[in-house]
Amino acid sequence: MSARVRRLARVRTAMGAAGVDALLLSLGADLPWLTGYEAMPLERLTMLVVPADDAAVLVVPQLEAPRVQPDPEVFGIRPWKEGTDPVATVARLVGGRRRLAVSDRTWATFVLALQQALPGRSWGVASSVTGPLRAVKDGEEITALAAASAAADRVAEALLSGDIRLVGRTERDVSDEIGRRLLAEGHDRVNFAIVGSGPNSASPHHAPGGRVIGAGEAVVCDFGGTLGGYCSDTTRTVFTGEPPAELAELYAVVQEAQAAAVDAATVGTACEDVDRVARDRIAGAGYGDAFIHRTGHGIGLEEHEEPYIAGGNRAPLVAWHAFSVEPGIYLAGRWGARIEDIVVATPDGPRSLNRSRHDLVVTA
Ligand code: ZN
Ligand code: ZN
Ligand code: ZN
Repeated sequence: MSARVRRLARVRTAMGAAGVDALLLSLGADLPWLTGYEAMPLERLTMLVVPADDAAVLVVPQLEAPRVQPDPEVFGIRPWKEGTDPVATVARLVGGRRRLAVSDRTWATFVLALQQALPGRSWGVASSVTGPLRAVKDGEEITALAAASAAADRVAEALLSGDIRLVGRTERDVSDEIGRRLLAEGHDRVNFAIVGSGPNSASPHHAPGGRVIGAGEAVVCDFGGTLGGYCSDTTRTVFTGEPPAELAELYAVVQEAQAAAVDAATVGTACEDVDRVARDRIAGAGYGDAFIHRTGHGIGLEEHEEPYIAGGNRAPLVAWHAFSVEPGIYLAGRWGARIEDIVVATPDGPRSLNRSRHDLVVTA
């Protein structure tokens, strides 16, 4: 049985449990996860109709159909001609089914048109069915995530060894080099390469700009791309000169909190408890207000997906969940630090896919 046949079977089981009669998948990662086909974000409708009790059918613009790899065990293909109405086609495939769930990222244009064509139905988001399923990776997906992380690690090593020069260069220039290296190490696409130096290191999602990196600064580098369809995402903080005592202490707290949260990420532990482990360590050191984001997010076909390692998420970690563990401390206008690894909750305990070092690195 292929991975996609197994995924479709899991989807049907989850639809039954959630009381969903038909799943309607358009833009977003649910569609490629099930079919291998990623819809272009076009004004022309692409939609996989998955009835709980009938074969799945991909309604796709005729001109896009040649890009679809047929997988008849999983879905049929229904190309629609220019000038015909794909919403009517989807409505016919849905038929009398009443409880519908539609991709979170389906364009509102189509959701509204479908709601008109299919009156009297209940509508939910597809992620309520697919999110928890996609969060649990199968063997092929773990292999793909490990390959993406290993490629990102090779870029991190270049940063930590000083191969990527920092002092005297702009953040943008360093970000561009990180991006080029992600591609050279095998990524198909660069998704982001954050470089925050000096006071900018206190802005977690800083957009790298024209600031020239100086000596004696913290530099937070957070980068990732897509390799073989799956995402990487890692953060290392390096110092361009011996950091002052306060900064070195802050870094040690982040390092300790990150390691403790990874250790806590065992199967059965609630996501919010993993978050709490990192948060308690940081708060205990007096930096509680300076840890301004959740501890992590799931990763797979998308950079951010379930499970979210955050306060309020009481759902337990399940074997083969893959997610980031990335606590940070940010003192606005001064400096910040973050360490991020992708971790898999295996039945034998948490396994970090990122292996580059965490100790305080002084580089130039
Ligand atoms: Zn982030
Ligand atoms: Zn990141
Ligand atoms: Zn992340």
